[in-house]
Amino acid sequence: MPVDKLPLPPHQALEYGVIRITSGVACMPPRKKTRRVNVGGVRIGGDAPVALQTMTAGYTHDVEGCIAEIRKLAEAGADLVRVAVPSQKDTAALREIIPASPVPIVADVHFHFERALEAIEAGVHKIRLNPGNIQDRPKVDKVIAACKERGIPIRVGVNEGSIVERRDKDLRATEKADMDKDHKQTLIRLMLDKLEDYLQIFEQRDFHDVVISAKSIDPRLVIDVYTAISDRWDYPLHLGVTHAGPPETGRIRSIAALGTLLANGIGDTIRISYAADPVVEVDDGKELLCSLGLRTRTEPELIACPTCGRIEVDLFKLVTDVRQRLTEIDVPIKVAVMGCVVNGPGECEGADVAIFAGRHRGIIYVQGEQRQTVTEDNMLDALLEECRSFANKVKRGEATLKNAPVDIAPA
Ligand code: SF4
Repeated sequence: MPVDKLPLPPHQALEYGVIRITSGVACMPPRKKTRRVNVGGVRIGGDAPVALQTMTAGYTHDVEGCIAEIRKLAEAGADLVRVAVPSQKDTAALREIIPASPVPIVADVHFHFERALEAIEAGVHKIRLNPGNIQDRPKVDKVIAACKERGIPIRVGVNEGSIVERRDKDLRATEKADMDKDHKQTLIRLMLDKLEDYLQIFEQRDFHDVVISAKSIDPRLVIDVYTAISDRWDYPLHLGVTHAGPPETGRIRSIAALGTLLANGIGDTIRISYAADPVVEVDDGKELLCSLGLRTRTEPELIACPTCGRIEVDLFKLVTDVRQRLTEIDVPIKVAVMGCVVNGPGECEGADVAIFAGRHRGIIYVQGEQRQTVTEDNMLDALLEECRSFANKVKRGEATLKNAPVDIAPA
């Protein structure tokens, strides 16, 4: 019987949200087709690649600091950068920041519709707005009209933290009672109901350049609510797990939720949020998209073995050093750092440059051809030299990147 037809033991037949894993063989479904919006030249939705975005951590009114941070994030790979505009001095700063930015800028507006209008006047490329935070409907109308006139999309957020009723005490009590019975399902229902209300506001005004977000700290809720939204509407979706924490824990939450959704064809732009330098958010977002084949890798890819009782060198240090030094290379070569030649060759399929460590020595291969044997002290420099030399050959057209098994006979 073919492997994928074998019945699975109960612990492997997981039912999770709408995703049912029934066999060990999986295939990514095609991406859900959504409407397309244009954010200052970056397309989101439709058949556009999944856009990667992040948010500055510094003050927007610190013009020089803000521009420097945006440039750093764009250099790291962000397609869009969002900035907070809590006060008028922040929207005033946008007039200098936007022309100096290498990527489109999104203004994050909360409570004050005036900030949205000022940001639009300053030439911002997208507005992030939560209509629930602006009670006065004519004020929301003004923002919609200004965006419509200039072709600026609006992201509408129904994030977990913003949808629970805080003004109406009776309604709050009803919601709380429902949540006590079933917290997750109540939150999903509230998010969908609020979203429907908000979308009506935009649709009644014939405004359709909308991007939706529905973030939560709970990855299971994120998966379920975005899946429900994707089933119901065709607006592009901005995926994220909110307040995910430091990278060490937030990474797992974020990748569990965003990875599952993206692998199911859901999501048009992502933001990973950590309590850390946003460059880490961009690095992780890029790796997620590259790993799922949703973004073309432009930098070296590092494969490394987890080590085992066969190891005879300090491989963890070597891997850390190689990772750091590979940032010097701008060709997407595949580099493998393996602990031995017993299983190493089979485990680093497709590596362009590989080192297999032995007793305080390492053997370096370039596309399956043995190049040199080096001492442990010299492993890092020698490997990097081979990587640089191979990358230069690729640039000159004298070598091509390959994705084939490394054909090495164990010593
Ligand atoms: S490559 Fe060698 S050292 Fe590394 S995990 Fe595999 S068998 Fe162990």
